[in-house]
Amino acid sequence: MAFELPKLPYAYNALEPHIDALTMEIHYSKHHQAYVNNINAAIAGSDTEKLSIEEICKNISKYPMAVRNNGGGHFNHSLFWSVMAPNAGGEPTGELAAAINSAFGSFADFKTQFAAAGATRFGSGWAWLIVKEGKLAVCSSPNQDNPLMDIAEVKGVPILGMDVWEHAYYLKYQNKRPDYIAAFWNVINWNEVTRRFNEAK
Ligand code: MN
Repeated sequence: MAFELPKLPYAYNALEPHIDALTMEIHYSKHHQAYVNNINAAIAGSDTEKLSIEEICKNISKYPMAVRNNGGGHFNHSLFWSVMAPNAGGEPTGELAAAINSAFGSFADFKTQFAAAGATRFGSGWAWLIVKEGKLAVCSSPNQDNPLMDIAEVKGVPILGMDVWEHAYYLKYQNKRPDYIAAFWNVINWNEVTRRFNEAK
């Protein structure tokens, strides 16, 4: 079974004005599609084709770089589209809100840490909110690595991810990554983050 580009659950322009339609179209239909094509080419005809993308990530040290970069790219972007939505943003409620307060002090403190993780990741990479040993933590990863990978500096189950590659924001925000990060809060789909939190904890 080859991996497939998951259906985008909203239109390219649905996250305007925070994320522009052209960025969404290129990011989804070109970048993510290329990760899918390249992971499929990298594992074609091998037993790896029987594994889920999560299983591959968890043992990524056993694979060549093409699997790490493109398999990571496929997992990361599949998560990314799902944790954004139109008419979203705001703050989580219930158990997730309580877990954020317990781990970071307050939602504002969590925002500061998560934004800093994205802003200070040098070059291309991702900022993450993860469940690690039952608790929430913030971390970042380079390139298309993610916290599921056995090579990750900080390991856990990602429940929110923010792409800070320039291709995620450059058309609208140019070099101003912090402005993109500030806008990202307006599109976070906390219902999906909560679903992932409940599954991971
Ligand atoms: Mn990307």
